[in-house]
Amino acid sequence: MYLKKIELHGFKSFADKVNIEFQPGITGIVGPNGCGKSNISDAVRWVLGEQSVKSLRGSNMADVIFAGSQDRRAQNLAEVTLIFDNSDRMLNYDYNEVEITRRLYRQGNEAEYLLNRQQCRLKDITDLLLDTGLGRDSLSIISQGNISNFADSRPEERRAIFEEAAGVSKYKKRKIEAIRK
Ligand code: ATP
Ligand code: MG
Repeated sequence: MYLKKIELHGFKSFADKVNIEFQPGITGIVGPNGCGKSNISDAVRWVLGEQSVKSLRGSNMADVIFAGSQDRRAQNLAEVTLIFDNSDRMLNYDYNEVEITRRLYRQGNEAEYLLNRQQCRLKDITDLLLDTGLGRDSLSIISQGNISNFADSRPEERRAIFEEAAGVSKYKKRKIEAIRK
């Protein structure tokens, strides 16, 4: 499975509809300060269900909607779609392509999620991503600043991060639960 494409429309600095296509392997996104590199990783986390406005670097959720510029009106809707290649069926969903969309309207503040363009609950998305190493709280996305936190942390804390990334921590949690019972 890999991320094939991101479609952004009205999300943060992406006022126009922008499609970014990826190939399997490593992709680097480069550009001057403030050009929107971090906004792309914010978009990925947002679609995966990020609820923390602070970690999206805003003061309320509507801050993810294009706020307008000198010569463009603000947008009323932010919409981002992630398109995953699922030909290896790593996601338990019987399609070669899995499209996950999140929308937010300025009015109403009603969150909307879609799976292959059909409306769904956030829970359907989190369930789909469970145990894949994706998901909003996973270590598959490490934001700016977290690398230095990682370097500065105590050895025990660093070990916990490795255990989380390696998938060991969930077994530790289950072991503790089992012993308690
Ligand atoms: P750096 O190299 O400094 O990390 P970056 O490429 O990661 O920069 P971002 O943080 O992704 O840059 O983008 C910041 C830009 O996005 C700012 O110019 C900010 O004004 C713009 N921006 C953020 N939210 C919105 C919004 N809702 N509407 C319009 N523009 C926005
Ligand atoms: Mg940045």
